[in-house]
Amino acid sequence: MQTELQRRAYLRAMGIDVWIPRDQAEPESDAEVTEAAVVDLDWDGLRAAVSGCTRCQLHQTRTQTVFGVGSPDADWMIIGEAPGAEEDRRGEPFVGRAGKLLDEMLRAIGEARASVFIANVLKCRPPNNRDPSADESTACRSHLERQIELVQPKIILAVGRVAAHLLLDTDEPVGRMRGKVHQLGATPLIVTYHPAYLLRSPSQKRKSWDDMCLARRVMSGALA
Ligand code: SF4
Repeated sequence: MQTELQRRAYLRAMGIDVWIPRDQAEPESDAEVTEAAVVDLDWDGLRAAVSGCTRCQLHQTRTQTVFGVGSPDADWMIIGEAPGAEEDRRGEPFVGRAGKLLDEMLRAIGEARASVFIANVLKCRPPNNRDPSADESTACRSHLERQIELVQPKIILAVGRVAAHLLLDTDEPVGRMRGKVHQLGATPLIVTYHPAYLLRSPSQKRKSWDDMCLARRVMSGALA
C-alpha cells in the first residue's frame, strides 16, 4: 500500500506541489524473417530481426530501430507507442523530458529503468510524430508480442492511447480505461497516461499516481 508520503514525493517528482525460416532455409537477411518465424526467435534473433526489418514503410525514414531497454527478466513491462525524434536518434525508448518523467514515475514506486523492460508498439519512428497507421501497427505487432513472451512480465503498464488501443483492441478513451485491471492473456495490464501527455496536461499527473498505485496493488497480490 502506498503511503501519503510516497504520494507526495511522487507528485513532487512530477512537478506538482503538494517466427520459422521460409522453406526451412536460413533467411538471407533479418528483414526476411517471417511473421511465423518471429515466435521462435530468442533475444538476439529478435533484436537482429527488428534491426533489419523492412516490413512497413517506416524503415525508409528511420535513423535506427528502437528495440527496447531494460531487464529481460523484468516483472514490469512498460509499453508506449512509437519512437519520437530523440528516440530515433538515440535508439532508446522514452528519452528526453517524457523519458525523465517516466523514470520519476517508476522511481516513485521503487522501480528503476534498468529493472523494468520498456518498449514501444512500433520500433521505428513515424515521420513528424504522427500516430502509427493500422498497417504499421499490424506489421510490427509480432515483435512486441515476442518481447512480451520472452520477458514474461507480471504486469504490463500500457502508456498512452495508442499502446492501450493496440494491446486491448479497443478505441475507448484512456480516461475510461484507467482505474481497471485489464488482462492481456494471463498478464494483468494497467492503462495510464503517456508522460508526454502529462507534460502537456500537468493536472492529470495526480491520476497517474493513482494508476501506479493500482499497478503496485496488483503486483503485491492485493488485487487479482
Ligand atoms: S515499424 Fe516495425 S514493422 Fe515497421 S519497419 Fe520498423 S520494425 Fe519493421
